Amino acid sequence: MELSGRLAVITGASTGIGLSVAEALGREGCRLAICARTEVDLEQAAERLRTIAPQVLAVPTDVSDEGSVRAFAKRVHSELGTADILVNNAGVGVFGHVLDLTPADYDVTFGVNVRGVFLCTQAFVPAMVEQNDGVVVNVASIAGKNFFPNGSVYAASKHAVMGMSKSMMLDLRKDNVRVITVCPGSVYTPFFEKAGQSPDPETIIDPGDVAELVVKAIQLSDGGTVSEVEIRPVNP
Ligand code: NAP
Repeated sequence: MELSGRLAVITGASTGIGLSVAEALGREGCRLAICARTEVDLEQAAERLRTIAPQVLAVPTDVSDEGSVRAFAKRVHSELGTADILVNNAGVGVFGHVLDLTPADYDVTFGVNVRGVFLCTQAFVPAMVEQNDGVVVNVASIAGKNFFPNGSVYAASKHAVMGMSKSMMLDLRKDNVRVITVCPGSVYTPFFEKAGQSPDPETIIDPGDVAELVVKAIQLSDGGTVSEVEIRPVNP
């Protein structure tokens, strides 16, 4: 897909991978619609993106909430038009022993990581199908294919994203909507700090590298689709 002038919607774009993807798409000339819950962080990100991208709309949104996603999509459609690219990136990480995690941890994790992908896809993709053109990028994780201690809820949510993403790829390709599942290993973002962890930035992936991969996967000629990509640290 040629990116200049296209409209890209990126969820969870106030920090981390989402912000890096928004910057990379903005540099390629995409118009941007971004969301996250925390207004002050979102506005800060939007200010930064306005120095790069031709147009930026930032709407505080909770992707796990149907009404909030509908309101976001309504503003995007009325102010900017049909999205050409949807990056389902918003996500949370809650880690702990399976006997220590709570039902609330489960609900929040699945609400954002899985329900959020479902709701945003339903809000933005019908218009892509209508125009018979579009790309959806679902940010899953290596945790969607592997298993690890303290990861029962997070890994389960990302396995669910993998299943949803691969199935929607098969649903949507006949309408010329490509679905790309991205599986990063550990990436240096606020994600770990929020989960009470502090990895060594030297041994994990820079979010800019994930963004570069996403842009290249979207840019591939329209005849084929990258259905899944993994990116891991070189020397963890
Ligand atoms: P991050 O820096 O913590 O960013 C998460 C983003 O999602 C923030 O903008 C956050 O803003 C937003 N968000 C969280 N809950 C939301 C909600 N309910 N509605 C809307 N936005 C919400 O984390 P990241 O590392 O960039 O993670 C991005 C994605 O990559 C996630 O899906 C994560 O699971 C995945 N991933 C991360 C890694 C890693 O090692 N970092 C590896 C593999 C996959 P608010 O909190 O203000 O809403």
